[in-house]
Amino acid sequence: MDVKGFLIDLDGVLYIGDQAIDGARAAIDLLKEKKYKFRFVSNTTRKCRKTVSERLVRLGFDIPESSIFTPPLAAIAHMNAAGKHRCLLLTTGDVYRDFEQWCDRNPENSMVDYVVVGDAGEKMTYGLLNAAFRAVIGGAEIVALEKDRYWMAPDGFMLSAGPFVAALEFAAGKTSTVMGKPSKAFFDMALRDMDLRPDQAVMVGDDIITDIAGARKTGMKAVLVRTGKFCEETLRSAVIKPTYVIDSIARLGDIL
Ligand SMILES: [Mg+2]
Repeated sequence: MDVKGFLIDLDGVLYIGDQAIDGARAAIDLLKEKKYKFRFVSNTTRKCRKTVSERLVRLGFDIPESSIFTPPLAAIAHMNAAGKHRCLLLTTGDVYRDFEQWCDRNPENSMVDYVVVGDAGEKMTYGLLNAAFRAVIGGAEIVALEKDRYWMAPDGFMLSAGPFVAALEFAAGKTSTVMGKPSKAFFDMALRDMDLRPDQAVMVGDDIITDIAGARKTGMKAVLVRTGKFCEETLRSAVIKPTYVIDSIARLGDIL
């Protein structure tokens, strides 16, 4: 492949749950050895960037925090550009930590600039969703940290933020601004950090829509791995196909 750099998804590509994918560490080492640039682009919205980084270290990956791009980073850039900082967060875990130094996270309902929707897991309740709906009706912008449909947990498929973003859009008759993959601005943020153009880079992911179609629309090559949420039927019916399909990131060396 005639490329200079890689954008690599995390969940389903480097690990599933607390298990690193066999050969994933060696694949990253190979990229380093061959002097490719690489960054990690994850739609993970349950953990702040620091926690994502610590988990990778725990799984044995030698990956600096600064090379990891997550949707909250893009959301904060979006808010800073507009100079507005009052947000209602629909998230779980410690993802709020990414926002705390930048945003007022507990504004009055009538004073909300942004309703920020991540994968809130068990934290998502009717009350929270309805408070978000009222804020949106009151003028707040819906900021979708991601709009994925689902993800693969160790015990099966889980709803992502997408279905809840869609509920707010439907109820309020508004459209969200999507921060994570497949948004072009998100890919661009990571590409800029490598100083590469889209045609000089390839995306490696397990999601045919957010990773593969998103990257192809941005002008990148895209490699689909048969791990994580990979599904043969979804690949067959996909309108936008990957450039390559490999069994797992362990086989990346075959197509370099
Ligand atoms: Mg993934």
